[in-house]
Amino acid sequence: MRLDKFVCKSTELSRMQARASIAAGDVSVNGEIVQDESKQVHENNHVVLNEQTLIARPFRYLMLHKPINTLSSNVDGDHPSIFNHIDIDNPEELHIVGRLDADTTGLVLITDDGRWSFDIIRPKKQCQKTYRVSLRDPINDSVIDRFLQGLQLQGEASLTLPAFLSPMNEREVLLTITEGRYHQVKRMFATVGNRVQSLHRQQVGEVRLDVPLGEWRYLTIDEIVSFR
Ligand code: URA
Repeated sequence: MRLDKFVCKSTELSRMQARASIAAGDVSVNGEIVQDESKQVHENNHVVLNEQTLIARPFRYLMLHKPINTLSSNVDGDHPSIFNHIDIDNPEELHIVGRLDADTTGLVLITDDGRWSFDIIRPKKQCQKTYRVSLRDPINDSVIDRFLQGLQLQGEASLTLPAFLSPMNEREVLLTITEGRYHQVKRMFATVGNRVQSLHRQQVGEVRLDVPLGEWRYLTIDEIVSFR
């Protein structure tokens, strides 16, 4: 990670204060003063600030059950931020891995490990996301096939990747997609003339939502490494 982030994660300093200390020459890496805040450092580097060895706090990985009318954002806006539901130190260090719309509920992954989140959302990864979808109109079998073949969403250059629809009843389906296009699920159903009434994400990769609405927990080691 960047040196300024490492200093923040291992002290009570803000990012600004950490940068000021680095610029002032107060920080050494493996015995050499480093004044470049963007220098990459690793846990096994010996980083010292004013003669004190720094040990970075471990990264944090959480799941939250997002309630309706909350924002996948670090700050409040038209609705309150989901971070109002997370009572944790230094929440400003955390970011959301794959946003949900304000009116979508369900599984949100949250971390301060930028590499981990990048790895999950990068398009090549094709990480599976499963949604429970309630629809305005009954579903018919031809739609299952159209989702599998790929849909042409308005304004998009390429078809959607194969998506797997599994009806639970006439107006409720489970949908698994491997992309994260803007409002993707709502636009997919709009393309086939239907309308999403409610949307709930229940799984990302192998991580299944298992906390009550509005609550959160740390991910297990197995869950964290399951994305590797
Ligand atoms: N697709 C949508 O349309 N909305 C979401 O929140 C997630 C996926």
